[in-house]
Amino acid sequence: MKNKTNIILLLLFCGCTFFCLLGCNHNNTGQQISLQNDQITLSFDKNTGEFTSFLKSDNSYEFLDPRIIAKSLWEIDLLRPSGKETINMTTPSEFHFSKQDPYNLVLTWDNFIGIENNDIKITATIKLEKNEPLSSWKIAVEGCEGEKVSRVVFPIISGIKDMGNENLAAPKWMGEKMKNPRDHLLKIQGKEKKYEWDYPGRMSLQCIALYNDAKKFGLYVSCNDSLAYRKNFSYKLDSLNSLTYKMTNYPSIDSSANVYSPSYEAIIGSLEGDWITAAEQYRAWGSKQKWSSESRFNKGLTPQSLEKTALWEWNRGKSSNVLVPAKDLMQKLNLPVNVFWHWWHGCSYDDGFPEYFPPREGKESFITAVKSAKNEGINPIVYMNQMQWGTNTESWEKENALSYAVKDINGNTRTHVYNVFTNKSLTTMCMGTQFWKDKYSSLCDSAINTYQTSGVYMDQACFSILCYDETHGHSIGGGNYWLKNFAKLTHKIRSKFPQNNDTFLAGEGVSEAWLPYLDAFLTLQVSMERYAGDNGWEPIPFFQAVYHQYAITYGNYSSLIVPPYDELWPKEFAPEDQMKLLDKSYNKQFLMEQARSFVWGFQPTISNYQGFLSSERKEEIDYLLNLARVRYRGLKYLLHGKFLRSPDMEFPEEELEMSRLSIYAGKTGESITTFQKKYPLIYSGTWKSDDNQVGIALASISDHPYPVNFSINSIDYELPLSGTINIIDAEGKRFITTYSDGKIKVNFTLLPKELCIVEILPNL
Ligand SMILES: [Zn+2]
Repeated sequence: MKNKTNIILLLLFCGCTFFCLLGCNHNNTGQQISLQNDQITLSFDKNTGEFTSFLKSDNSYEFLDPRIIAKSLWEIDLLRPSGKETINMTTPSEFHFSKQDPYNLVLTWDNFIGIENNDIKITATIKLEKNEPLSSWKIAVEGCEGEKVSRVVFPIISGIKDMGNENLAAPKWMGEKMKNPRDHLLKIQGKEKKYEWDYPGRMSLQCIALYNDAKKFGLYVSCNDSLAYRKNFSYKLDSLNSLTYKMTNYPSIDSSANVYSPSYEAIIGSLEGDWITAAEQYRAWGSKQKWSSESRFNKGLTPQSLEKTALWEWNRGKSSNVLVPAKDLMQKLNLPVNVFWHWWHGCSYDDGFPEYFPPREGKESFITAVKSAKNEGINPIVYMNQMQWGTNTESWEKENALSYAVKDINGNTRTHVYNVFTNKSLTTMCMGTQFWKDKYSSLCDSAINTYQTSGVYMDQACFSILCYDETHGHSIGGGNYWLKNFAKLTHKIRSKFPQNNDTFLAGEGVSEAWLPYLDAFLTLQVSMERYAGDNGWEPIPFFQAVYHQYAITYGNYSSLIVPPYDELWPKEFAPEDQMKLLDKSYNKQFLMEQARSFVWGFQPTISNYQGFLSSERKEEIDYLLNLARVRYRGLKYLLHGKFLRSPDMEFPEEELEMSRLSIYAGKTGESITTFQKKYPLIYSGTWKSDDNQVGIALASISDHPYPVNFSINSIDYELPLSGTINIIDAEGKRFITTYSDGKIKVNFTLLPKELCIVEILPNL
């Protein structure tokens, strides 16, 4: 350790500043150092490195609140035998900067005082793009040999002031948006008023938009990591109603390394537009990454039996309750129906995993039923959780599962009671262990080769968990080993697939990083009201806006029946009315969920289908069948298309009665099961096909006709100046008008509950 006196002398002679941030604020009068292009200007305090101003270069808007006490740009956790030591810009040190040109700034902190290792040096490199309102931020931690660097938070952008009419849009799997997020954050009880998303995991891509929805400007934050390293993104509400944005990086803990510097940069920019603008901006980068070119759908590796799915039936229980209704549905639709099958397994749901075999109805009955369904063209895929093991199962002890379970930083397992009826817990297994990959792939082998199913739905697939077990053979803590091992797992599973067979793997959630590994992605936000109620967030097709042409998304909790209760769970919590019809007042919720999935480019799904619904809920089932038929005529848009912004239209709204009974029934206490909220009665989604044609999907759930009337410029959709406009509906395709001089005008009446695709075909 160096002598403190020498350091102070050094400071005096070098003119560097020994500082403490406490008490400084954004309008401090210290000299500023700025990076500027014609779009944005970023300023930092010359003496401290504090980020003081983020200004649009035309002076039209300052993003940072001058009243806010400054916070450090970075924060680093070092694990020591004596405990965790956290350092940040308030830790006494020397600060230097170097600005080589108007676009590049290097900030350095070294000679830390009062910490165990003063060889540590932190460098933050901030660069402006020349002609874009974007900046990139990169950190390096040097001199850390012998240290366990477990967490590096960078950048920390504090003091983000209220832009007014704010919307926060985050790619939580499919995507969610919230109006006035500060109001909602304020209501959070507890220490931290924060929204946080883990990546790769529940956050499906690395971009968040916070913007003024009236004036269409805001903040664009993203990351250009193409290797899916583990990190978190968050927005937190601080004092004086300001927000702090943080990107938290989780390095692999490697005390032999002298430097930690991520291979990627954080991107901070000003956004001119809304979440769709942000998605388009991110898409320009994301679609060039390997996960897009290697995506199974893009490479034609997804089987035809999956691509041709016209409708999914998501049922639970024995084959008589699952495959028999699916046959009925297929006869009515006369198009391919596939089955997403839960509760087929011998164990009870959410506590007996992975003791799936034999199926609860017995081996022979199951295989006979599956073969019969497949003969009729129905492809059933079965549920198997790809990371949980029931801690109360016999196999947990017998197979010594504990050794291969994820351990947190304190050596504890990740154990959770999902099943509130049996109170038995599940523990997360480590994807990095060969044991778990062998175990799960052998289960898939049985499901596919012995039990003849068409594939496996891998529950909790799009997650990556930090594991600190040093005996597992993977890098410790963060890094990107989880995804690499998921790739190995799916490779191993597929190596046992029958040749020339339509077998596939689906998974929970959706993520850019999983595009090369899964054939289909379950994106349930489309029906989020059923599990989240009215929590301030609403679904948006953020993921589809970026990656629709690279991923097949499906799934919906949309049901006309009170959800079922697993027959293997305790009888005392079983509701009397399970599998009975839901009240008719929730019929429009069903239509709305289906309409969303149609216009947002999903493969449609009905949950809990039974044959009697076609007479008891005729209008709703007819709507669904019609929807599947219209969609089937427009697969070039709704399956393969690239997302475009829909034309501006004013849609009427209505207060709907919403059920939030969730996925399965049964109650252990009183909970809210219904609410009312206003929703649009018309839904639209616009898609461009590979051959440069545009399809605008429209779905009405209204009881009244709606006059469709919009004008768009062909140039905005990169279309030629003249062409033809058709309408595709269940009957076929009909011509309505032509357009010329680049002016596209569409005017017709959408009938009550009508579904169609307005097709714009350019003249060649
Ligand atoms: Zn592990």
